[in-house]
Amino acid sequence: MPSIFTKIINGDIPCYKITEDEHNFAFLDINPNAKGHTLCVPKKEVNKIMDLDEASYLKLMAFSRKVGKAIESAVPCKRVGMSVIGLEVPHVHVHLIPLHSMKNATFQHKEKLDPAEFEKIAEQIRSQLK
Ligand code: AMP
Repeated sequence: MPSIFTKIINGDIPCYKITEDEHNFAFLDINPNAKGHTLCVPKKEVNKIMDLDEASYLKLMAFSRKVGKAIESAVPCKRVGMSVIGLEVPHVHVHLIPLHSMKNATFQHKEKLDPAEFEKIAEQIRSQLK
């Protein structure tokens, strides 16, 4: 059974897409710690990040850096934090989180956005990748 992220990558479930390349896919987290919270996901479905082969891991990190720099340009914040958890979805993903304070890094405080706000922030990040 494909993971929810594989379904998103295949277009079977909608998302607020940021970008993709041959190996990785980025979209907004639907329950964000902060506005602009983005997930970077390898297209290859692997559960745990330490089980990714080294080449895929390095490509994921390079892709995440590129997306993270776009978030930093698009979203006012102190910096973009990077975190890998994976306790909810067993398909490797890097959380890129605009940080205003430590609160945004805890996964205990969530931001409520409506669809128009999700689409607006996604477009702002996408425009920094052009
Ligand atoms: P974790 O596996 O603990 O790193 O958390 C999984 C993350 O995926 C959470 O932050 C969820 O809000 C996010 N998530 C789950 N389903 C979706 C979805 N359909 N679209 C976007 N983000 C999702």
